[in-house]
This record gives sequence, C-alpha cells and structure tokens, in this order.
Amino acid sequence: MEKKLVKAINEQINKEIYSAYLYLAMVAYFESESLNGCAKWMKIQAKEEMGHAMKFFEFLHDRGQRVELESIAKPDSSFKSVQDVFEKTLEHEQEVTASINNLFKIAQDVKDSAAEVLLHWFIEEQVEEEKSAMEILGKLEYVADKKSSALLILDQALGARSEG
Ligand code: MG
Repeated sequence: MEKKLVKAINEQINKEIYSAYLYLAMVAYFESESLNGCAKWMKIQAKEEMGHAMKFFEFLHDRGQRVELESIAKPDSSFKSVQDVFEKTLEHEQEVTASINNLFKIAQDVKDSAAEVLLHWFIEEQVEEEKSAMEILGKLEYVADKKSSALLILDQALGARSEG
C-alpha cells in the first residue's frame, strides 16, 4: 500500500477513537443531568465509533500494514444543554465526513480499489450520522417552547434505541 494512504488511515483510526471519547464525555454529561435515555443513545453512538476505528484497524492489518496508535486528545466536556450536545455532535460528524471524503480522494489518487470499496461504506455511514444528529436537533427545536415535559419524552425516545 502507498505510504500516504496508510498514514491517512492511521490518522482516521485516531479520529474515530476520539469520536468515541467525545461521545463518552457527552454520556458523562447526560448521566450527570439524569437524562438516562440520552445517555443510552450516546453510549451506543460511542460504541459504534469504536467499531469504525476497528474497521480501519483490521483493514490495515488485512493489507499487511502496521497500525500506529497515537495519543487521543482530551474531549470537550463543557456542555451547556442537550441542544448544545447535539449541535456539537453534528458539527463533529461534519468534520468526520470531510475527513472521510479526503481519505477517499487519497485512495483514488493512489488507485487503491480495496480502500475505495471500504470507504464507500463510510461515506454512506456519514450520511446516516449527520441525518440522525439533524433529526434530533429538529425535534429539540420543536420542543424548545414546551421545555421539560417534552424533553422527558425525547429522552424516552432516545432510550428506546437498540444496538446495531
Ligand atoms: Mg465514525
């Protein structure tokens, strides 16, 4: 494999683990606010991010490459509200989308078809990630003037998320 693609995938592994770490910081915030449904939703999100990291991890290994793990940055933990958390989630996922698109360009540049196929999955996944954050933000806007009771209903809805 081309060195620059291996380097970019190693960097993406770090970004996916950072995503898991950021979402765990959000879980901690939700739990401190007793929003157990939001916490459950976000915990599943964090697990999915570790799954993303492992997809890239196994891919490098399967291609005979060495994974190089770097330090994981400290995530933001200064959340002000549920809305603030999901705004930050959407913003973060948009950054990840840009990073995946950049990886795809590198894979195309170096003509690595196997990496392109792997990245197709991630490109679709990012559409889903942004969509779910936008949907939750949309619901939060709707409940903004009805406040607490509506927030509890939303918390229950998020708590109904199942894995997979
Ligand atoms: Mg991800």
